Amino acid sequence: MKPPRPAGFSSYQRLSLKTLEFALSEVPGYAAWRRFDPGAAASVDDRYAALPALSKRELREHFPAGFVPSQRELGPGLAAGEVEFAHTSGSTEDRVALVFNPAWWEASERAAWGLNRHARRVADGRHREVVLASPRCVGPGFSAKPLSVAERTIGRHLYVNQKINPATWNAADIRRMAAEINAYGPLALEGDPAYLAAFARRVCESGIDICQPRLIFLTYSYPSRLYLRQIGKVFSAPLVSSYGSTETGHVFMECEAGRLHQNSEHCRVDFVPWLSRHGGPRRGRLLVTVFRNPWFVVLRFDIGDVARLDDRGPCPCGRGGGMVLEAIEGRAADVTFGREGNAVTVDDLDAALAPIAGIMAWQLDLPAPGNLQLRVISEPGRSRPACLQARERLKEIYGGKAKIEAMTVKALQHEASGKFRFTRPAYPVDLAALWRSKR
Ligand SMILES: [Zn+2]
Repeated sequence: MKPPRPAGFSSYQRLSLKTLEFALSEVPGYAAWRRFDPGAAASVDDRYAALPALSKRELREHFPAGFVPSQRELGPGLAAGEVEFAHTSGSTEDRVALVFNPAWWEASERAAWGLNRHARRVADGRHREVVLASPRCVGPGFSAKPLSVAERTIGRHLYVNQKINPATWNAADIRRMAAEINAYGPLALEGDPAYLAAFARRVCESGIDICQPRLIFLTYSYPSRLYLRQIGKVFSAPLVSSYGSTETGHVFMECEAGRLHQNSEHCRVDFVPWLSRHGGPRRGRLLVTVFRNPWFVVLRFDIGDVARLDDRGPCPCGRGGGMVLEAIEGRAADVTFGREGNAVTVDDLDAALAPIAGIMAWQLDLPAPGNLQLRVISEPGRSRPACLQARERLKEIYGGKAKIEAMTVKALQHEASGKFRFTRPAYPVDLAALWRSKR
C-alpha cells in the first residue's frame, strides 16, 4: 500500500496541473511554450521543469492582453472595475505594466496573513494600516504639491510619506508623519525598510513620541540588519517580512519563528538552485506560478530575487507543507562577484558591513568590475573609523587587487521608483552563469 499523501499535497499538485494546462491552452502569451510541454504522461513537476521562465520582458511585450485568458474581455472588465492597469515599481529599469485584479490581490494577502500568528490576530481586512514607503511605489502616487490626509487615505490605508528619498525629509515632514500616525492609530504599519528605518532614526533623534502599532510588515526591499535594528529601537511590535510582487501577489510570509513560508494556496514556487561555488544548492532563484488569478495568468515568473532555502528541519511554528526559506538575500541584479569569482549577494555584504560600529546605512556602486565605491551614512563622529573598517571588509570579500573607496554621505542614491538598491553594478552581468552548469 502507498503511504497516504500529506494533507495539502494533492490539492497543491492539482492546482499546479490545472493552472499549467489552462495557461498552455487558453492564454495566448503561452502559445509558444506548448512545444516544451512533455504532456499528460509526465509528472506535474517534470512538466513545469520543461517550461521556460517568464520574464518582465515578455510581460511587457504581450501587454495588455497576452496573459489574459482568451475567453475574457479586457474592455468590459476594466469598465466594471474588475481589473485595472497597474504599473510595477521595478527598482531597475524594468518597470512593467500589467492587468491587475484587486479581488485576487486581497485574497492572496488574506491567505498570507494566516502564515503568521501575529498577523492572523491583528489583520482582518478591515484593520487600519499606515504605509511608509516611496510614493512612486504605493498610494495615490507622487505629487509635487502636498496632498491632504484625505487624499492619501485609500480604503483602510493611510500613506504618510510624500517625498522620494528619506534624506529629503525636513523636521516638519517628520513631525507631520508622526502626528498623522498618532492620529490614525493604526493596528499595522507597512514599510519599506529603508524608509521606515530612516524615519525611526529621525524620530529617535528628535525625541518624538510615536504610537505603537501591533504589527509591522516589511516589504518592497531587502531588510538590512541595520534597518531592523533601527526600526526595533523605536517600535516594539513584531517585524514581519512579507514577500511578493505585483505580478505574483503574496508569495512568502515570515512566521512568528522567523522563517518564510510559502503561500501555497495561492502560488506554486519552483526553486532553481545555483551552482555550489555560488552558494547552491540552498541558494537559488524563484519561479512563481500564480494559482487563483482569473484575469492574469502567471506561470514560472522569475521574480528576480535570491532565495536561501531553510534546511533546519521542521519549523518551530508547526506549519508544514510548502517551501520554507531562511532568507531572501536581495535582488539577483545586485549580485556581484568576489575574489574567487564566487557570487556575493546583498545579504553577504550586509552580514559583513552591518556589525561595523557607526554605520547606519550602506550602498555599493560598481562603475566597473573590480572598482567599488561604498557610500555609508554614519553616526556623527564615527565616519572615519567606520569607512576604514568597511574598506577592510570589502577587501576581504573582493580581494586585494580591487580598487575600493569608502565615503560618508548624507544621502543614498535612489532609483526612479524611489526604492534603494544596495549594490549597483553599472555593467551587464550574466546571471544565468549562477545556475547554468558547464557542459
Ligand atoms: Zn514557521
